[in-house]
Amino acid sequence: MSHSSKKLFKHAAERIAFDEQHRKTIQFNMGKYHAAVGAGKLRYANLDAARIKASEIKRHTLANLPQYLEEFEKNCIQNGITVLWAQTAADAIQYITNILQEHKVTSVVKSKSMTTEEIELNHELEKIGIESVETDLGEYIVQLAGEKPYHIVTPAMHKSKQDVAVLFHQKFGFPLTSTAEEMTNLARQKLREKYLAAGAGITGANFLIADKGGVCVTENEGNAIMSTAFPDIHIAIAGIEKVIPSFKDLALFWPHLAQHGTGQAISSYNTMFTGPRKKNEPHGPSHMYVILLDNGRSNLYAQEKLNVALSCIRCGACLNACPIYKNVGGYTYNTTYQGPIGTVISPHLGNFQEHIHLSTACSLCAGCTEVCPVKIPLHELIHENRKRAVSQNFFPLTEQLGMKAFEYVASKSKRMDLIGSTLKNILLSIAGSRLWGKKREFPKIAKQSFRKQYLKLAKKQKNTKQ
Ligand code: SF4
Repeated sequence: MSHSSKKLFKHAAERIAFDEQHRKTIQFNMGKYHAAVGAGKLRYANLDAARIKASEIKRHTLANLPQYLEEFEKNCIQNGITVLWAQTAADAIQYITNILQEHKVTSVVKSKSMTTEEIELNHELEKIGIESVETDLGEYIVQLAGEKPYHIVTPAMHKSKQDVAVLFHQKFGFPLTSTAEEMTNLARQKLREKYLAAGAGITGANFLIADKGGVCVTENEGNAIMSTAFPDIHIAIAGIEKVIPSFKDLALFWPHLAQHGTGQAISSYNTMFTGPRKKNEPHGPSHMYVILLDNGRSNLYAQEKLNVALSCIRCGACLNACPIYKNVGGYTYNTTYQGPIGTVISPHLGNFQEHIHLSTACSLCAGCTEVCPVKIPLHELIHENRKRAVSQNFFPLTEQLGMKAFEYVASKSKRMDLIGSTLKNILLSIAGSRLWGKKREFPKIAKQSFRKQYLKLAKKQKNTKQ
């Protein structure tokens, strides 16, 4: 376990968990989410049946992943799409750079995509002098602020309307008293210029459709359609796990994703891109590329007990259900994917040692598992991660010895009673400040243990009877 990343996590968590403004903003935004999703779930005649069906399709696809990917590739090629396989983030960046340079592109517009966050595309394009502009409003806001997405579905969830007003004031001199509508209009106006100037549009993919060779994108702002309609090049980048067998599966997945992501019956715009413009079509990009990204997914796929995590449709519901996420916020994770799903997959997509400490920041309450639309047993996978960390000796020796000593003493109440309450309180405050942070106080241990009190009472009652 990397001590520095664990330390950073603990410090960041300790700071943000006591930031009242942050708490207020998150509670407000999460409150809106929970109200919408709660009401939306009533639309299902049988929610659990939908979750089971969705999980079966995803599990079946995973079990046959190589075949479905080959089918997807074959159909894409027939549709005139160039398919590129990227083993690593660096490969994906190289492909994108080559395409953009070959077509002499100097600016791109991007729709929201966590996969492009994963490969740090904006940063890489900036290094070679290509402007990359986020067009999803939330993404646009965090990009302007020089930040990363705070949440996989709502990237600017941590910002209040006032925070955005201050940002727009600093960047554009816009009045601090602007309404949300005025600020949205300003962003729209600014982005229009970018769409028209961009040489390429880059999107992610919510689903890759094997039987059609199509790339599906679901959104609410129309920015993905705009990003692909104006520029002459469309590049879609997606993780290999995004494939599903058939176009027909969208009848379930599109509303299911919208419902769990935002509480909508279905997102406002749902598009399947099936290639560049044809000879008789006047509009649309003349070239379309799909980059299929591995970047650690094969490593996760090879792990029988964990690969079900590749069923994720990135709805974000598990983040919103997670008491840890709600307290420590998205940035504390320091990973592309945060919350329960990020905790499960990050050690396997990237460096195990670097991210495994996240699995210890979990109460195993199973709230995430309960809400997951594709029935990923997230809390069990987090537990599995912990077991691996223990079996691979990733915890420091002092912690291991401490746990062994605790196990020995706590497994017998008589042993626990050998230590007085004063010493117990001292030990707890030392361990508590190490494990729970300095700002949290452990409740005080009673002078007498329950066992002692019970024995005393039993003895008293016996004497009274006699
Ligand atoms: S793990 Fe489940 S709940 Fe979490 S983002 Fe993925 S699909 Fe949604």
